[in-house]
Amino acid sequence: MSVIDLRSDTVTQPTAGMLDAMAKAATGDDVYGEDPTVNRLEAELAKRLGFASALFVPTGTMSNLLGLMAHCERGEEYIVGQQAHTYKYEGGGAAVLGSIQPQPIELQADGSLDLAQVAAAIKPDDFHFARTRLVALENTMQGKVLPLEYLARARTFTREHGLALHLDGARLYNAAVKLGVDAREITQHFDSVSVCLSKGLGAPVGSVLCGPVEFIAKARRLRKMVGGGMRQSGLLAAAGLYALDNNVKRLADDHANAQFLAEGLSKAGYEVEPVQTNMVYVQMGDKAEAIKAFAGERGIKLSAAGRLRMVTHMDVSRAQIEQVIATFVEFSRN
Ligand SMILES: *Cc1c(COP(=O)(O)O)cnc(C)c1O
Repeated sequence: MSVIDLRSDTVTQPTAGMLDAMAKAATGDDVYGEDPTVNRLEAELAKRLGFASALFVPTGTMSNLLGLMAHCERGEEYIVGQQAHTYKYEGGGAAVLGSIQPQPIELQADGSLDLAQVAAAIKPDDFHFARTRLVALENTMQGKVLPLEYLARARTFTREHGLALHLDGARLYNAAVKLGVDAREITQHFDSVSVCLSKGLGAPVGSVLCGPVEFIAKARRLRKMVGGGMRQSGLLAAAGLYALDNNVKRLADDHANAQFLAEGLSKAGYEVEPVQTNMVYVQMGDKAEAIKAFAGERGIKLSAAGRLRMVTHMDVSRAQIEQVIATFVEFSRN
């Protein structure tokens, strides 16, 4: 029985083509700046996203942490969504390791931060307060794509207030593919962007932080400090380059599968939130543990949550999505 894992798009296995690219990668010691494949990945992604420089790191958590620490000094502050990864799901790293104070505010239904609320949260220049330095957005946010028009407004707004603007673009390419635009249409509005290669793009490991030259130089120093300086990491960078060349357009298949899954579950009477990219949210209420166990016995891995998130990715086919729908139908009859 082949397992269908819908817990996250991080579970993908490297394909034969990707493994081949990794095996053939030229490598060197990246701490000395001598890994040609890492250098190529950093230059390539910086160019594709319109930045002067980039830094390859092991995880998205580290990429965001270095971004926050490169923007903010101790006692400074970033404004961020209450449910944002950089606030809620990174172990409080910015506060613990950077002495950076988060100022979370509620997200809007579309995944954006209301700019009037952000304005109200900016601290006046007064020694009682932390210095507000940065606004951090996330795109996609729980599968939702921030509108380009909103990003343009956020850019103007942060400029007017002398703040930097960081994007947690773990799923930047899902957003770009959904909008049918070049990723630059999104990234042009930001001072820095973090992109995950190990989510829907299918690489086993790695994220890239993009930004201006001095910002990335600072992040490079911080990366060594937190233990993220890797050596022959060209093996991993090769997987990232392969992913960027081969696995971006196909994200549309994941989006179509998510849509198909949502429609199937909705027809079966489940309460499903509207789908934009590769995430399907279903209200399971107090049935969360029961559906997890029921599906698990049938080879389908789910998280246990009242608001259940299912994520489509390259290792889940349309036929398997049909199997998932059939399983939910069977469950609802029990
Ligand atoms: C996965 C993810 C990250 C970083 O994740 P790592 O597991 O540390 O690579 C950051 N932001 C968002 C929105 C994510 O989904």
